[in-house]
Amino acid sequence: MNPQPQVLDLLAARRGHFLLESGHHGELWLDLELLCSEPRRVQPLCAELAARLSKFNVEVVCGPLLEGAFVGLMVASELNVRFCYSERFMRPRHEGLFPAGYRVPASLRPTVKGKRVAIVNDVINAGSAVKGTYADLQDCGANVVAIGALLVLGSAASEFAQAKGVVLESLAQLPNQLWEAQTCPLCASSELPLEDVGGSVARTGELLLFDRMIPSNREAYRR
Ligand SMILES: [Zn+2]
Repeated sequence: MNPQPQVLDLLAARRGHFLLESGHHGELWLDLELLCSEPRRVQPLCAELAARLSKFNVEVVCGPLLEGAFVGLMVASELNVRFCYSERFMRPRHEGLFPAGYRVPASLRPTVKGKRVAIVNDVINAGSAVKGTYADLQDCGANVVAIGALLVLGSAASEFAQAKGVVLESLAQLPNQLWEAQTCPLCASSELPLEDVGGSVARTGELLLFDRMIPSNREAYRR
């Protein structure tokens, strides 16, 4: 089975000049909100991803919120294993790339300790969700054995997986150019205005708000 056409069909891809969650600029935007709008179309792909992950004796699937967790939940159900998720938060006083961190909620942290965990995401691009989730699972004492995704863009995910000695399984792969703002050729040509489709600029506002919070409120925000 080559599921790549089905995966790409589910994601309404757009070409342009986009601000990504990681802070990079990119030329491809996928409307991930649409991915799980028809669960019966995603289900067979999650079953295929689960089949590919089944040989790694995974005990828990962890999916980053939002859409990654929906895919992770379906994969966990197919594998008949436990499920948990990680939530995004903005790092205080963090400038530059990867301003977002990911954290497993307190009540779920004991369920991954000492367990073989697969991080499952919908699409991995610069990898901020997977990297943040991996770091927090390490803090939880989990043994991350695999990363799974419906679609992997570019080489960041495979480089990360290789560096951590973790298996990467994906149903589809596409090349994708990412640039830091200073070296972005699309900015340099100034023909295409930068689009903040995902609201990254809005979240920078959230970051400032976080910085002004009193410490006890920050803890509540971080959970
Ligand atoms: Zn740019």
